[in-house]
Amino acid sequence: MNLSQKLSLPIFKTISEIADKEQMEVYAVGGFVRDVILERPIKDIDFVVLGNGIDLATKVATALGKKKYLSVFKNFGTAMIKTKGLEFEFVGARKESYRRESRKPIVEDGTIEDDQNRRDFTINAMSISLNKWNWGDLIDPFNGLSDLEAKILKTPLEPDVTYSDDPLRMLRAIRFASQLNFKIETNSLEAIKKNKKRIEIISKERVTEELNKILACEKPSVGFDLLYKTELLQILLPEISDLQGVEEVEGQSHKDNFYHTIEVVDNLSKHSKNLWLRWAALLHDIGKPASKRFDKQVGWTFHGHEFKGSKMVPTLFKRLKLPLNDKMKYVQKMVMLSSRPAALTKEDVSDSAIRRLLFDAGDDIDDLMMLVEADITTKNAFKKKKYLSNFKIVRKKLVELEEKDRIRNFQPPISGEEIISTFDLKPCKEVGLIKSAIKEAILDGEIANEYEAAKSFMIKKGLELGLQSKL
Ligand code: ATP
Repeated sequence: MNLSQKLSLPIFKTISEIADKEQMEVYAVGGFVRDVILERPIKDIDFVVLGNGIDLATKVATALGKKKYLSVFKNFGTAMIKTKGLEFEFVGARKESYRRESRKPIVEDGTIEDDQNRRDFTINAMSISLNKWNWGDLIDPFNGLSDLEAKILKTPLEPDVTYSDDPLRMLRAIRFASQLNFKIETNSLEAIKKNKKRIEIISKERVTEELNKILACEKPSVGFDLLYKTELLQILLPEISDLQGVEEVEGQSHKDNFYHTIEVVDNLSKHSKNLWLRWAALLHDIGKPASKRFDKQVGWTFHGHEFKGSKMVPTLFKRLKLPLNDKMKYVQKMVMLSSRPAALTKEDVSDSAIRRLLFDAGDDIDDLMMLVEADITTKNAFKKKKYLSNFKIVRKKLVELEEKDRIRNFQPPISGEEIISTFDLKPCKEVGLIKSAIKEAILDGEIANEYEAAKSFMIKKGLELGLQSKL
């Protein structure tokens, strides 16, 4: 097969001419070849040279007038040219051997065959020749092309060895299966299950990078289901695998919260690419196993699971080396509020309850509504329609109240300083009491969210507390 029509970027011709002149063989390899055949967007292109990768990259960058975009990594024997939106990486062909305790191999110079042998999947082990005499030829030693067509992930060498050598490949297999909608070959699946414990030698950052990539897929459930079936989930995210299972008491059962959760993530992913909202969807029920109870009258309950779940988020984020900043706080907040809108769908719900939700969710109210709508996984079309229309009503009430009361970005209409000067106080607990009484009165709808109303309320409240107004 010849893929010369796929080599339209000018850099390919430049590389080809320089490599011919230097009498070096050069190939475009790996993910680029896979993605070009699948017609997926290209982000970076890796070139393998039989010779010195840094030398070739330097000559190519010079010829293209892009020397200032060249970065050289001497220790790794690699060099990169970064241009708008695309990265070109150059490396000499390698041969690798592994030690048991590390995923970092011993690396030596090798042939293009050696280089292809060390790749993770047959679909990632294809190369395109770039020298003039074989321009565009596909080199496909492991039938990657037919695996691409059959949508199958297979390792070039023995799967057990491939995964044990570098256990990150287990997560890459699952991530590619999820991203490309491919099947993992049975031998590979078994080898992953067998080697699952080896995932522990992989740094948390790399694990998390793959989990984030799975979450960023169109249908993240494919990846999470595979993580569960290979038992990697039980090691990496036991909070999620603990959701699996249906218990039955006196003929009453609850839903399988694991399969429910990954369906919620899929539903949400149809509407939002926000990675943190997707994390919130994945974690929204993690408090359920610890709060599950059976009551003869009402059946299964999970009281307080949102609170419990939101408390579990920091530990989980810390373990996975996810950021412990406002992203984490956002996920915690989403988990904490994930059942609130459903409680507001009753006919007689008060404005005050809606105002309080607006206050608690702030600017994230739309994300929260998206999450709760994704949370509807009932297969009963009638119920689904009813729940969705209830949420529509909640959305409408939220908009109406926000227009009227502007609660979303609540700023106290009266400052602490004003309370202090009105009653001629020093900073003291009464200031806090009055401030929070004003906020509560606004949320309860007792007074409007505006200065004059809040000022009169402040004076009334101060007098009740026995303070003297200077006004
Ligand atoms: P993506 O860019 O979506 O992560 P990719 O396949 O391009 O996909 P890279 O991490 O850029 O992934 O790797 C480039 C190539 O290097 C892969 O296609 C594969 O041939 C090889 N490779 C990457 N990681 C491994 C690994 N852990 N074991 C073996 N080969 C690997």
